[in-house]
Amino acid sequence: MERNIDRKRVVIIGAGPGGYVAAVRAAHLGAAVTLIEKKAIGGTCLNVGCIPTKVLLHSADLLSALKTEAKRIGVLVDNPRLDWTALMKRKAMTVSRLVAGTLELVKSNGVEYVEGIAVITGKDASRRVFTVAVGERTFEADALIIATGSEPDVPDTPGFDLGGVITSDEALSLDAPPPSIAISGGGVIGMEFAAAFASFGARVTVIVTSPEVLRSVDPEAAVILRKTLEKKGVTFLTGSTITGVTRGENGLQISIETTSGSKQIEAEKLLVAKGRRPYTKGLGIEALGVNMARGRVVTDAHMETNVPGVYAIGDCVNSYMLAHVASREGEVAAEHIMGHNSTMDYTTTPGCIYTSPEIASVGMTEREAESKGHKISVGKFPLSTNGKSMITGDNAGMMKVIADGDTKKILGVVMVGGPATDMIAEAALALHFGATPEDLVQTIHAHPTVSEAVSEAAENVFGLSPHTPKKN
Ligand SMILES: Cc1cc2nc3c(=O)[nH]c(=O)nc-3n(C[C@H](O)[C@H](O)[C@H](O)COP(=O)(O)OP(=O)(O)OC[C@H]3O[C@@H](n4cnc5c(N)ncnc54)[C@H](O)[C@@H]3O)c2cc1C
Repeated sequence: MERNIDRKRVVIIGAGPGGYVAAVRAAHLGAAVTLIEKKAIGGTCLNVGCIPTKVLLHSADLLSALKTEAKRIGVLVDNPRLDWTALMKRKAMTVSRLVAGTLELVKSNGVEYVEGIAVITGKDASRRVFTVAVGERTFEADALIIATGSEPDVPDTPGFDLGGVITSDEALSLDAPPPSIAISGGGVIGMEFAAAFASFGARVTVIVTSPEVLRSVDPEAAVILRKTLEKKGVTFLTGSTITGVTRGENGLQISIETTSGSKQIEAEKLLVAKGRRPYTKGLGIEALGVNMARGRVVTDAHMETNVPGVYAIGDCVNSYMLAHVASREGEVAAEHIMGHNSTMDYTTTPGCIYTSPEIASVGMTEREAESKGHKISVGKFPLSTNGKSMITGDNAGMMKVIADGDTKKILGVVMVGGPATDMIAEAALALHFGATPEDLVQTIHAHPTVSEAVSEAAENVFGLSPHTPKKN
């Protein structure tokens, strides 16, 4: 094995949005990069996460709009219905195009892409060189980035090993849409699947242990989404826990302990969406002496572990478990390896839910801000009076700006409705620059757009929104 002394050798394990972005950044900065992937480039996000779920949600939204809205807005469509085979084909094509494009991207940047399972086999402390094996091949590295992601967390509940009990991976590749589906978990993944399957005509029951869905999201936003899904026919069993599953005559018999006693429901499928756990199985990370906490790799703000030269990024590290966080962490790790003093700042991390209405937020919720001792001022604006939202009929939502009463700086923004997941970038930028609601007001927003409601919410921090009727 020859040592290339001119270029730093960086080996990255895992080619999800964390790993492949780190690879490209390290290559841009002059490193000799090897990227190792055991399944498919793009990781969870491209193959069984962000992208395929949004393909499903897009068709679900369109179908739902055609069924419920088209006639009302003067568009007549005969018998709109789902073609599941065509949808699955479109999903596969979108994923494969993105996968091919990502592979081309890394290769065009001179990254060596290796398919196979990587195992860290050793560390030569004196030379500070790490070795990684992939089958018969061995790679030497001056720096390692662990980007091995996460896997679905399936609890040990009796019957969860039965056929018909599925994770999000299988939910994306069913032979046909199920006539009925129970979803265990009221987080983002659970809500997105509930929205999609309800639009496809399934009887959907969501079973959530906590008293409300979307516990980490602004409570008002969570209630708006829950009500919208209820209107679509989704049943919510909150404060409820699945105690066991058996096979019944018409699918699965699901036993549930609710706040008002035991209950049994029947569903063809049970989707377990109770969260994901970091994945570092069989990697040899423990032998390196890397610090772990509750299954996660522990890093500093440069994404470096306690072992100098070993970095970790993405779902195997942090609790955000978002593709854009993994990618930014990848850039930070690569830059730090290459001698830059880059650090991770999570303040501007947007959280998005691609349901209808869309939900997006950045910064602190009111509860979080108050618990951190901020005296807050909040401005809200409902989309029921926003022109663009009235045109599209997507007017159940609202915009909310949370500011610090003393410093006047924006602490958080919540958006429900419209293209919230795209519009949230404005709020993230505002947070990055330490902007005040006044800065948002002084930024002229186009009319008619949903983004005007953000500016109106900012004005309402001072009670001055021009389109809010005056209370007497
Ligand atoms: C249903 C679903 C929907 C989601 N939707 C969104 C969304 O809309 N927006 C968003 O931001 N996030 C979303 N996520 C989360 C997002 O997919 C993850 O946060 C993101 O993929 C994490 O990136 P990563 O690079 O850390 O890990 P991953 O994408 O999981 O990639 C890790 C890679 O490492 C590989 N690997 C593991 N061990 C080894 C080994 N020993 N050798 C070689 N390779 C190995 C794996 O095969 C995998 O490809 C969603 C997730 C799911 C499940």
